[in-house]
Amino acid sequence: VTLPLAQGWQAGIGARLPWLGSEVAAQPLANPRWLGWSDDLAETLSLNRSLDLLALFAGQQSLPWPGFAQVYSGHQFGGYTPRLGDGRGLHLGQRGEYELFAKGSGPTPYSRGGDGRAVLRSAVREFLISEALHHLGVATTRALAVIGSDTPVWREEQETGAITVRVSCSHLRFGHFEYFFYTRQQDQLEALIRDSIDTLFPQLAAEPEPILAWLVDVVQRTAETVADWQAFGFCHGVLNTDNMSILGETFDFGPFAFLNQFDSGHICNHSDHTGRYAFDQQPGIGLWNLNKLALTLTPFLSETQLRDALAEYEPALVARYLARMGARLGLEDPTEEDLALITELLNLMGRSGVDYHLTLRQLGQCDPSGQDTPLHRQFQGQSDFDAWWLRYQQRLGGGTVASDWGQQRNRANPAILLRTHLAQQAIAAAEQGNNRPLMRLHRALTRPYDPRPQDHPFIEEAPSWSRSLTLSCSS
Ligand code: AMP
Ligand code: MG
Ligand code: MG
Repeated sequence: VTLPLAQGWQAGIGARLPWLGSEVAAQPLANPRWLGWSDDLAETLSLNRSLDLLALFAGQQSLPWPGFAQVYSGHQFGGYTPRLGDGRGLHLGQRGEYELFAKGSGPTPYSRGGDGRAVLRSAVREFLISEALHHLGVATTRALAVIGSDTPVWREEQETGAITVRVSCSHLRFGHFEYFFYTRQQDQLEALIRDSIDTLFPQLAAEPEPILAWLVDVVQRTAETVADWQAFGFCHGVLNTDNMSILGETFDFGPFAFLNQFDSGHICNHSDHTGRYAFDQQPGIGLWNLNKLALTLTPFLSETQLRDALAEYEPALVARYLARMGARLGLEDPTEEDLALITELLNLMGRSGVDYHLTLRQLGQCDPSGQDTPLHRQFQGQSDFDAWWLRYQQRLGGGTVASDWGQQRNRANPAILLRTHLAQQAIAAAEQGNNRPLMRLHRALTRPYDPRPQDHPFIEEAPSWSRSLTLSCSS
C-alpha cells in the first residue's frame, strides 16, 4: 500500500548511491502503538502523529520507494570486521535535510544471522538518550518516536519487538569509508566522500583541498563531542568505528550510562572485559577511531596532510572540555592551567563518593565567597576540600560575583540526566502497557537545566541498587 501522505518525503542517499546498500522490505510489527514521541522534532520535520505514519514506521505501509539498508564495516573492540551494515534497520527516506531510519524493522542482507529486531527496552533507551543528549546540548542522532508491538522477540527470554525512529542529517559512519577502502572500491569511496561534502559540508567544496578540509571538520566535530561526553559524565560503551558518525554525533546507543559517582575508569558495558571503552578511555579512543578513518583517505591525501589533520584533535578536545567545565564552575576564560583545579575536584568527588552531577549543580548554587557552604557539608571529612575551595576562590578573583551567577551556573549544570534507574523504571511500566512514566521522563529530559516543579522527582541520585548496574549488549 502506498501512503497518501508521501508528501514532503524524498528518497534518500540510497537513491543517489545505490551501491551503498540494498533495497529491503520491512517485516511489519504486530499491533504497533506509539510509546514515545518527540513533539519538537516532529515540528522540525513537519510531521503529525497519524495512523498512516505509525503504519509506515512499523513496516505495514511503505513510501513510493523501498526501504534501504546500508553496508559498512568497522573495527569492533580493536579488530576489523570486514562486513557489517544495517542489520536491523531501514532508511525510509528524507524530509528536508533529515534522514529517517526505522531501527528494528526486520532482517536485511547485513543481519549476519540476527533477527533484525530491537526489543522494547533498548528501543526506549535509544529514544530517551537521543532526546536527552540533544537537550543537554551534546551532538547526537535524534529520535522522533518509539513504537511498541506484540511481535515476540527472543533474547535471554521472550520480549517484544519495538522500533526507534532515528533522525539525522547523515547516518554515515567511519565504517562506511572503511568498507569501501578495504574492499578496494576506490571510485565508490571517492564518490561517497564527494557526496558527503556536497550534501553535508557544502561550504568545503570551494576549499583548495576539500577532502582535507572535510577530514579536519570531522576531526573537530568528533573532538568536541567526546569532550562533551567527558564534561557530562557520559559513557558511550561501544565506541567501535561503525558507531562513529561522520557528523560527530553521538551514535548507536547500547549499554551507555551516565556516571553517578565520579569514577574515571567506569566501564558501563558488561561485555567490555578489558575496559577498552571505559569512561577515561573515550578521548584516546576517539583519536584511535579517527586514525582508522584517516587511513581510508590515503589514496587522496599525503601522510603529512593526514597527520596534520589528526593533530587538531587534542587541542580541539581540550578547548571544548575547558569551555564546558569552565562554564560549570564559573571560571572566566578557562585555560589549560585550570585543568589541575578541575581534576582535583574530580578526584575529591571520586574519593568522597558524592554524585557527580548533583555536586556540580550544588557548587553553582553556593556563594563562592562563602566559607561554610552546603558543598562544605557535602565534603565533610575530606580535609583536602578546604584547600581546593581556597584555590577555587583565588581563581575566581575573590570579590563578589555577578547577581545572576547562580542562574548562569544552572544553565551549564544539568539537574536531570537519563540515569540508568530512571530508564529502567520507565521501561518496566512500558512493558506492562503503561507508557505514561516514559512520557513524563521524556518531558523532564527536554528541560535538564530548568526543571519544572513536576520534574523534581527526577532530580535524584541513583539508588544504591542501580549504581553498579552494567548492561550487556543484548538489545
Ligand atoms: P551494534 O552493536 O548495535 O553497533 O551492532 C553491530 C552490528 O550488528 C550492526 O551491523 C547491527 O546492525 C547488527 N545487529 C545488532 N543487533 C542485530 C539484530 N538483532 N539483528 C540483526 N543485526 C543486528
Ligand atoms: Mg552499531
Ligand atoms: Mg546498535
